[in-house]
Amino acid sequence: MALISVEVARDHVWAAVGARGPLAAERVDAAAAVGRVLAAPVVATEDLPGFDDSAMDGYAGRAADFATAFELGSLLPVVAQVPAGADPAPLPPGTLARIFTGAALPVGADSVLIQEEAEVLVAAEGLARVGPKRAVPAGANVRHRGSDVRAGVPVLAEGRVLSPGDVGLLAALGRTRVAVHRRPVVAILGSGDELLPVDAGRLPPGRRRDSNAWQLAAAVIEAGGVPRVLPTVPDRFEASLAAVAEAVRGADVLLTSGGVSVGDHDHLGTALHRLAGGSLGFHRVALRPGKPFAFGVLSGVLVFGLPGNPVSAGVTFELFVRPTLLALAGHRRCFRRAVPARLTSPLPAGDGREAWLRGGLAEAPDGLWIDVGRTQSSGALSSLAGADALLRVPVGAAARAAGETVWVHRLDTDDRVARFDAGG
Ligand code: AMP
Ligand code: MG
Repeated sequence: MALISVEVARDHVWAAVGARGPLAAERVDAAAAVGRVLAAPVVATEDLPGFDDSAMDGYAGRAADFATAFELGSLLPVVAQVPAGADPAPLPPGTLARIFTGAALPVGADSVLIQEEAEVLVAAEGLARVGPKRAVPAGANVRHRGSDVRAGVPVLAEGRVLSPGDVGLLAALGRTRVAVHRRPVVAILGSGDELLPVDAGRLPPGRRRDSNAWQLAAAVIEAGGVPRVLPTVPDRFEASLAAVAEAVRGADVLLTSGGVSVGDHDHLGTALHRLAGGSLGFHRVALRPGKPFAFGVLSGVLVFGLPGNPVSAGVTFELFVRPTLLALAGHRRCFRRAVPARLTSPLPAGDGREAWLRGGLAEAPDGLWIDVGRTQSSGALSSLAGADALLRVPVGAAARAAGETVWVHRLDTDDRVARFDAGG
């Protein structure tokens, strides 16, 4: 097993992901498509708005009549009411229609006098006469048909990650179904005689729970994939062979955990090797945590042999698997953005392995701070469980003092602040 850098391991993965390309399109309900990636551009088939309508509550009329009334200080009779949803009759010259926001403009009217700028005189019979307090430019407060979106025009590009606003636009256009990339189905297979199902109750001596099953399933869900957790496979070659052959069926990605280091009992790695032949690479990655790592393609399925150690499994998922799942789902931005943060404690120099430290973040008035003073033991799941960010320490990096700025990869949502802030 060769020792390779994180970068080389990533290149291996990324080359295979690039060759695979995004998953095929499927048509889904637009109502449930938020966060999904469009597999084809959306072209409007209708105008928005579909008719000339009023942008305000007020009085619809002709610009020429408004101009005369404004000049002479005269009033125009209001002869019709047009609420939203109505199909109004044509408006005779020299008259106005009371109109409300979103209501269709009567034929003949071309401008709207907003009610705040209207001089209203109500006669005894309830008939109103109205004049403008200010000049009403032609076309004022009218939203013309197709002024928002024109039929035939592309409105959402392929590769767009659908936002709620996008879904609103699709809905307004009557597009109830959209073509998006399929979400990757990810089989999750743990291995080890010591493992029992998470809900096994009180554990017998020497046994532990298959916590990676739930941890990796959660990570898959968070990355937009569909997890399929399989029963744990014991440390036996035949069982491993059968489990892997079964696991790749119907999956886009297979994540195994454990059994790919050089131990005597690493039958899973042997089984993967047997099934995939030479197409599977077994690596010792110069990475802490997460040294043993296997990767390759088996029956068209991208296979990641992750370390069994839960912290190592979590970090290798983050580095290699998460970007893969996003790319398969059609995303073009697959890597977390690095943001600057200051160290609350000194950072030791890097050694021969690239380290990914788990840190806690605190938001202070002077910016973000990262605390990596907690345990960094790869055996301590609590180091990953409480973490908000990962801090990469390159091979041979110099030591850093407390207060210095480093770049960190936020695992939490990095677009929120504690107080409402309208921004500048
Ligand atoms: P391995 O890579 O199989 O040598 O496992 C390394 C360490 O991770 C051992 O302490 C295993 O008990 C533990 N481990 C392996 N698989 C899992 C799992 N699915 N869930 C929790 N711990 C695991
Ligand atoms: Mg094991």
